[in-house]
Amino acid sequence: MTAQPQEWIRNFVDGAFVDPDPNRAFAAVDPATGATFAQVHEADRGLVDRAVAAARAALAAGWAERPVRERADLLRRAADRIEERFDEFVAAEIADTGKPITQARELDIARAPANFRTFADVVSAAGQESFLTEMGGGRRALNYAVRKPLGVVAVIVPWNLPLLLLTWKVAPALACGNAVVVKPSEDTPSTATLLAEVLAEVGFPRGVYNVVHGFGAGSAGAFLTEDPHIDGVTFTGSSATGSHVMKTVAPRVRPVSFELGGKNAAVVFDDVCLDEAIDGLSRSIFTNTGQVCLCTERVYVQRAVFGDIVAGLVERAGRLRLGRPTDTATTTGPLISQKHRQKVQAYLELAEAEGAEVHTGGGIPAMGADLDGGSWIEPTLWTGLTNRDRVLREEIFGPVAALIPFDTEAEAIALANDTDYGLAAAVWTNDLRRGHRVAQAMNVGMSWVNTWFLRDLRSPFGGVGLSGIGREGGESSLHFYTEPTNVCVQL
Ligand code: NAD
Repeated sequence: MTAQPQEWIRNFVDGAFVDPDPNRAFAAVDPATGATFAQVHEADRGLVDRAVAAARAALAAGWAERPVRERADLLRRAADRIEERFDEFVAAEIADTGKPITQARELDIARAPANFRTFADVVSAAGQESFLTEMGGGRRALNYAVRKPLGVVAVIVPWNLPLLLLTWKVAPALACGNAVVVKPSEDTPSTATLLAEVLAEVGFPRGVYNVVHGFGAGSAGAFLTEDPHIDGVTFTGSSATGSHVMKTVAPRVRPVSFELGGKNAAVVFDDVCLDEAIDGLSRSIFTNTGQVCLCTERVYVQRAVFGDIVAGLVERAGRLRLGRPTDTATTTGPLISQKHRQKVQAYLELAEAEGAEVHTGGGIPAMGADLDGGSWIEPTLWTGLTNRDRVLREEIFGPVAALIPFDTEAEAIALANDTDYGLAAAVWTNDLRRGHRVAQAMNVGMSWVNTWFLRDLRSPFGGVGLSGIGREGGESSLHFYTEPTNVCVQL
């Protein structure tokens, strides 16, 4: 048998793919099987510098001065082209993540054109602030703000929803006239690379979108954030890395937007429609194998329905189908990597050491055949833990949740807010007034009532505390990706 030539995932700089260096390569691994399917060219500092310089040159060549309508038009063409190449994006995302094909189609890849179209619309409709200043004696001045792009924006994203999270940042950044250097996660290099082809095909000028591959410390992530020529960083990832990136850019006082980790709560009242709540909770715990920053890991349930909710969730967990990602019957994929599985597994052990009763899951499933090489984990539900346990305090990022009973609304709010994180919460109740009241009392960036992860891309997204700094989405994105200059004209 002759060895197949290894496929390369390449860096994209200044409008062209860079020839790979076999001495700077790492493996792209399919987490469903553990098999290597390509080599990724790890960018060195020189290549990252070149990418930043190419972005700077694209700005100098007039990208930011293009009329908004032209940039919006390019964004819409990108959306159309992603849809034309939809199956390629789906296949690339599945290869990197092992996520089920139905989810990749309906959530991950579908959101990419939606992001481009939304920000084409948002930037087209955006106005400018202006104030007529009256100073008395008939003297007046006109104040208005002109919004200018930040310049070269470093975009660093994680592996859980790779294209969705990438385009969530790239679309508004480009809409506002910035040029970007993107560093996708080392675990999911494929769709960012495919997007480079698409943006070139639809006519984005060279240097406006660049991709550099690699890891964080001592690699492309660090080289990018250390580069003195970047004008801002938009980062999605863990709180610890966010804090590190903040320190790195602090000496040059560059703006940052941070979408970080979560330890999200759901609060379930006893007046709820049980079936609806159990379906919603199950989705919020198990979607993407629990690897969504918004996923629920803490479920507080009013005592009268505690037993029903536990039993209902165990039953829903039993309906999940772990399996081959390309099978449309599969609902649940593997974790992203063996490394991440080790982390989640350590929490499964810790939960038991902390006194958890395991109602379902708790271990590694036998998958059979080549899938046994993958990083699979069992969906797991616990009771018997308290907010003092580490399992309730630290983000696990797997298909796991702890259920805790409560008696009063005040107690539920206190329990849900007893965390260093503050990303999202979900409140389940049939009492309209209570729904508003409790949702507003949650110390988070996003609070849902009787639903979860229902997003309008025009609304603000982000977190408080360890969950981040700033908001993106709709006009909030325009605010981050531009700097206003106020002009005051005495009339
Ligand atoms: P991570 O912080 O390990 O990595 C995120 C990205 O940062 C990767 O591209 C990584 O290579 C890069 N990176 C790592 N160290 C770096 C450094 N020193 N300098 C520059 N870049 C560096 O996170 P992850 O494990 O890839 O993703 C999971 C985390 O992301 C979870 O905590 C999850 O909650 C969070 N997340 C948050 C949101 C949100 O919107 N708030 C969305 C998705 C994921």
